[in-house]
Amino acid sequence: MPEKTIFEKSVEGRRGQSFPIEQLGDFSPEQALPKACLREMPLDLPEVSENELMRHYTRLSQESYGVDNGFYPLGSCTMKYNPKINEDVARFPGFSQVHPMQEVQSAQGALTVLYELEQMLCEISGMAAISLQPVAGAQGEMVGMMMARAYHESQGHARQVVVIPDSAHGTNPASAHLAGYTIKTVHSNAEGLIDLDDLAKIVDRDTAALMLTNPNTLGLFETQIEAIAEIVHAAGALLYFDGANLNALLGLTRPGDMGFDIVHFNIHKTFSTPHGGGGPGAGPVGIGANLLPFLPSPVIKKDQDGFSFDHDLPQSIGRVHGFYGNFGILLRAYTYIRRLGAAGLAAISRNTIINANYLKKRLEEDYNIPMSGPCMHEFILSALAFRKKGIHAWDIAKRLIDYGFYPPTVNFPLIIEEALMIEAPESEARETLDAFAEAMKQIRHEIDAEPEKLKSAPCSGPAGRMNEVQAARQLDVKYE
Ligand SMILES: *Cc1c(COP(=O)(O)O)cnc(C)c1O
Repeated sequence: MPEKTIFEKSVEGRRGQSFPIEQLGDFSPEQALPKACLREMPLDLPEVSENELMRHYTRLSQESYGVDNGFYPLGSCTMKYNPKINEDVARFPGFSQVHPMQEVQSAQGALTVLYELEQMLCEISGMAAISLQPVAGAQGEMVGMMMARAYHESQGHARQVVVIPDSAHGTNPASAHLAGYTIKTVHSNAEGLIDLDDLAKIVDRDTAALMLTNPNTLGLFETQIEAIAEIVHAAGALLYFDGANLNALLGLTRPGDMGFDIVHFNIHKTFSTPHGGGGPGAGPVGIGANLLPFLPSPVIKKDQDGFSFDHDLPQSIGRVHGFYGNFGILLRAYTYIRRLGAAGLAAISRNTIINANYLKKRLEEDYNIPMSGPCMHEFILSALAFRKKGIHAWDIAKRLIDYGFYPPTVNFPLIIEEALMIEAPESEARETLDAFAEAMKQIRHEIDAEPEKLKSAPCSGPAGRMNEVQAARQLDVKYE
């Protein structure tokens, strides 16, 4: 039975507490507050007992699936486990009670964390400077594109076009468009990598930047990255790194060393801070020395008096967020990086690459894997062969819910028909990957033997198959 709403459980007059209000005398709310402040109409709140309230919200919490209750192979999103020590540190009173309007002299600890995090991200990415202000990867992209525009304007030629591969995440063209650019698409070759000839034809003196995800959304490393950087830079354009897949590169190689000029990080993916449901997140942006003057203001500066904010940046693109980004999320990432150290970070990437290749190997027999070589931290299956049986990637994803797993990303990247994009973060044990592979094997058997099971899935969850288009187009979250 799906859990009813708390309003449907309401019974008039029922209470969650029983204080002896009459004993409060003059201190009771009715007596202590001036008459003009008292409500005339009663609040329309549900009336339930304490245990009903407790059970309702506990049940609801058990109906949602998250990284704390199982494997979450959502490709590109890096749903790794969020270590609880990050949460403990974020709750230290000295951090949780700091106020953004406080004088900087009394917030030196918080500023130390931010400053050191910037330095660590510079080291990890090979970039010259970082702004921690953007609060999502997508916002980082837009800030990066705004800096690219400021850079080109300072060179005397604003340029019009941003080039983006056909395998890119949808936020890339959206961000470049918001920054005022026209988009041109560069095609992928049969190996799933950037087609260098196509790129050389497209890039010219009007190209502001190439936005690239490396490893790309097919889970493949762009091995020709040096040649790509050369084509882009020879035209005077900038090379932008979408850092959503940085989980595969930590401590192994750096976007700065590959020639990237601008980088965004998805802190909530790579550095294990919670995400889902729209935030909060953090999408810091790193830049090479050529873009230093254009950083969002303010920047954190360190001198003999300690840390402070520097607002004196005449060429800056300006402030892009209130205060200095999502402090609590940045603090969790800081904790994560400090706890692991350089060797720990490199182990993350090695282990996520091993996990993905292991799982890919285990699924190879039963599913079509369009890109056959080794992958980085994620890989793509195609369910195209099952289409003639009426089965789509979607149905396999939904059926996985019945086996206790969160579905992988489906129908992305767009260049693979019926794509299922599977990521296996380093925090998953081999037994978990084996259990997932077994479930996929069972589903493969069902596709031939009992396809209806897939089409009607999920049948075990609190709700059946949703109309996701209607849910997005006619969002109704108000109880009336
Ligand atoms: C997640 C993701 C983004 C967008 O990042 P958000 O933090 O969700 O805004 C961009 N590109 C790729 C490849 C991604 O996976």
